Amino acid sequence: LNYRYIRENAAYIQQNAINRNVLDLDVSRVVSLYDKFVTADFELAELRRRRNKIATEMAAIVGILKKQRKDDVVEALNRKNQLAEEGKTLKKLVAEKEEQVANMQAALYEEARHIPNDTHPSVPIGDESKAGLVDTVGSPRAAVFDSGAPLRDHMELASLHDMVDFERAGKATGSSFYYLRNAGALLEMALTRYAIDRCIARGFVPVTTPDLIRHEVLEACGFNPRTEDPQTYYIEPHAASEARLPFNARRDPMQLCLSATAEFPLAAMYANEIVLSEKLPIKMVALGKSFRAEGQAGATNRGLYRVHQFTKVEMFSITAKGESDNALKEMVDIQKEIFEDLELCFRILNMPTHDLGAPAYQKYDMEAWMPGRKAWGEISSASNCTDYQTRRLNIRHFVSSPSPNTTDFVHTINGTACAVPRLIIALLETHQLEDGQLRIPEKLRPYFLGGNVDRLR
Ligand code: AMP
Repeated sequence: LNYRYIRENAAYIQQNAINRNVLDLDVSRVVSLYDKFVTADFELAELRRRRNKIATEMAAIVGILKKQRKDDVVEALNRKNQLAEEGKTLKKLVAEKEEQVANMQAALYEEARHIPNDTHPSVPIGDESKAGLVDTVGSPRAAVFDSGAPLRDHMELASLHDMVDFERAGKATGSSFYYLRNAGALLEMALTRYAIDRCIARGFVPVTTPDLIRHEVLEACGFNPRTEDPQTYYIEPHAASEARLPFNARRDPMQLCLSATAEFPLAAMYANEIVLSEKLPIKMVALGKSFRAEGQAGATNRGLYRVHQFTKVEMFSITAKGESDNALKEMVDIQKEIFEDLELCFRILNMPTHDLGAPAYQKYDMEAWMPGRKAWGEISSASNCTDYQTRRLNIRHFVSSPSPNTTDFVHTINGTACAVPRLIIALLETHQLEDGQLRIPEKLRPYFLGGNVDRLR
């Protein structure tokens, strides 16, 4: 972490944390731990210097002894004994100091890791209600047909076409899991491939990712679990019964979790690497499964709206420092193109400070009008995380200033290209006909049943 930056900007960082609703952060404590750490680290360097000096002098004495000049030998032996004593003491002091410095560094990191990213000046301050409306595309479809009959919601339509089965998935896995079947399964395949193609056309490299991820990667990505983390599934391969251990007992950095998003494995791909500047921007689009243990309650989460597992196409870019705002714009452009092609009515929101989470510098969400639910529902998100993740994952590139061959942290940007279940909701509810048939948007047809189906009967 950039402790010097934190030290020099403590007032801004404290205010920024308050704006982002991180209320248990005391930046002055981080600064004071940092100052103590710097002093101890300096003392350690001084002890090491003395230890090295003794080692050099000892080596010189060994040289003298080898030549065996009599007068010198007695004096050298005395000095050697004296140095050996000093060396022994210093060895102990260095080891003690090293342990102290390591502990101080760990305590400092533990305190400082809760500091959220800085915030883009255009981000509205406050809670969800302060979200800034950037654009609305299309107009919300009425809740009734011309005849006055009400529109169906996605679960009625899914059942008409035998597309989704929660009941039987309950036997296989549990509640909030589902099978997609018939046109439901084909829609998932068509949507994901369609979205991937749109991203490839903009220079993104297609990737499939591991769906299991180490806990340390979640943390580095700013997905900071609190004392309990209700979002994450932990893998306990050898003792399923231990899955309910208290959270802290499971905080092994290598602990495997089911990834909540392909953003995590994509971010970890270049961890501890210095990437060549000419390779930037690195743009990837991944097909992955997302696992969310979050609870499902109430009518607003009915059906596919909030489920425990879904397929998602995720965009991820790695850029040089000055390029991440543009990379975020590019992702929002692609999202807009995809949702326009799907003929959805949607709006773009500049998300306010309380909704940014720890890593985002700025975040745009898109919400589609879901006429059966009679509500806007979030279908995508795009965030510029600047250097928040890359500092923690140690991803850098060479820069020519202030001096040649220095390195700087790159920036990361992530965005949803297609989160399948909510797109199915928006598509079904938006494109339903009165007799229950479903119109397939023209741009999606080439991906669907050989391309010659315009509606599902
Ligand atoms: P996130 O990675 O949390 O920003 O989510 C990306 C997108 O995934 C959201 O915009 C939603 O469309 C979708 N999504 C998130 N959580 C769920 C869930 N539990 N069930 C279904 N879709 C979800």
